[in-house]
Amino acid sequence: MNVAIDRDGVERWMQAFAQAIADRREELITLDTAIGDGDHGANMERGMRRAVEKLAEQRPDTPGAVLKAVGMTLIATVGGASGPLYGTLMLALAAGFAERPQLELAQYASAWRAAVEAVCARGHAQPGDKTMIDALSPAAAALEQAAQRGGELGEALQEAAAAAREGMLATVPLVARRGRASYLGERSAGHQDPGATSAYHLIESAARALAD
Ligand code: ADP
Ligand code: MG
Repeated sequence: MNVAIDRDGVERWMQAFAQAIADRREELITLDTAIGDGDHGANMERGMRRAVEKLAEQRPDTPGAVLKAVGMTLIATVGGASGPLYGTLMLALAAGFAERPQLELAQYASAWRAAVEAVCARGHAQPGDKTMIDALSPAAAALEQAAQRGGELGEALQEAAAAAREGMLATVPLVARRGRASYLGERSAGHQDPGATSAYHLIESAARALAD
């Protein structure tokens, strides 16, 4: 098992995320139809398919450069709220990775924390607003806790995925305070947030792809 994250690992992560989203396109459309406009599955599937194509063309040479290419592609190709927000997440992660050829758990965890804060700032959302933040923020906290106790990378990624899953499921009873779902007010309660669902798959893909 690897102790560090390298560019091939990050490319595998992005390929795994693109596949996870493609496999769940209809599920994400159904979730977004209940409390939004139904485009989340199609948006994300198209954006990540283009992002993976871009990686094959450009062959970026560091973990940060891989995520920068993905973030730029998502901003350019995905409309709606999720394109700019996922783009912000990827670009902020890339900035945290800087030019490093490899990242250890503590560096990965602190890049995640800063990236989640960048998404909160961009969308004016906080945990509990029934957004992607509800999956992303617990995952960042799990990574930080694992890094602080000197945990092992693969185990930390598994813990982050479990925390993201809990956060995703915890969006069900919440009333949305940001994004299109907030227009429904109390009627948004009782549905799982589509963006928290795709965000869980981002973290879960990392657990499968980065610890190989
Ligand atoms: P749109 O709402 O423009 O149709 P999508 O359907 O692709 O965009 O994405 C909807 C998801 O985006 C929501 O489920 C939510 O998780 C996330 N989202 C919306 N607004 C915000 C925000 N301000 N901050 C964080 N996440 C948000
Ligand atoms: Mg939508």
